[in-house]
Amino acid sequence: MITAEPSNQPIDKSVPAIEVEHLTVSYGAVPALLDVSFAIPQGQLVGIIGPNGSGKSTLIKAILGFLRPDVGNVRIFGTPVERTRKLVAYVPQRGSVDWDFPVTVEEVAMMGRYGNIPWWQWGPSKADWEIVEEALSIVRMADLRKRQIGALSGGQQQRVFMARALAQGAQVVLLDEPFAGVDAATERAILSVLENAKKSGRTLVVVHHDLATAAEFFDALILLKQRLFAFGTPLQILQPELLSEVYDGNVRAFEHLRRVIEEKAK
Ligand code: ADP
Ligand code: MG
Repeated sequence: MITAEPSNQPIDKSVPAIEVEHLTVSYGAVPALLDVSFAIPQGQLVGIIGPNGSGKSTLIKAILGFLRPDVGNVRIFGTPVERTRKLVAYVPQRGSVDWDFPVTVEEVAMMGRYGNIPWWQWGPSKADWEIVEEALSIVRMADLRKRQIGALSGGQQQRVFMARALAQGAQVVLLDEPFAGVDAATERAILSVLENAKKSGRTLVVVHHDLATAAEFFDALILLKQRLFAFGTPLQILQPELLSEVYDGNVRAFEHLRRVIEEKAK
């Protein structure tokens, strides 16, 4: 177990990991999110689905406190996000990061510790390195610790950011499309990292593009298009009628999906 405990108080297990209440977020005059409310229990692996431009990335950034809502609020373990920042971490979308920056795998993971190293300490302590080591082993990147991040595959880069989040001591990790453009082997590797993190009690929220795998990967799904259309189990969400309303049509693919899910539920 990673021992970094950013909060001195133990977290009450019955409090939702994330509560979003009446959240409206706009860029200029147009709301990207309108009156969105939901609560995610601790220890779940939750997918956010919805068409392009439906506000998925905006929702993640608002949960992180990067964007100020017009209306509404976000609580992490019952406390406003401004006061729980260390408990929440972000794994950015690939392509939004400068991969030529000369930094190694373990240095990126150590960035997660910076906020925890006191100002009078000259550098990371032995304990900080142990936490980083453990985070790298959870994401199975310990063998590549000296590798430059620019020399990694897309899936490996995602895992290094996941390690940084774990090293930070985050209990809630939000990932924006970690599966976009990765091959099948990498997809399995990322999924097993998410499941590992979930086993350690963390709550994970993942923006996900591919409806076909959504049922397989997640405990619950958030269906978003500016408004919250639905929040529930994959079986509740992946209904042709509901999806065709949100995705404007393409019901044929959804019928196939539904059979996959029903098969799984047996
Ligand atoms: P998704 O991640 O689901 O594709 P986004 O949250 O990125 O959707 O975007 C939601 C809406 O907000 C889109 O209409 C998008 O064009 C708009 N939007 C996103 N970011 C900005 C921004 N920085 N400035 C203006 N509009 C934005
Ligand atoms: Mg997005």
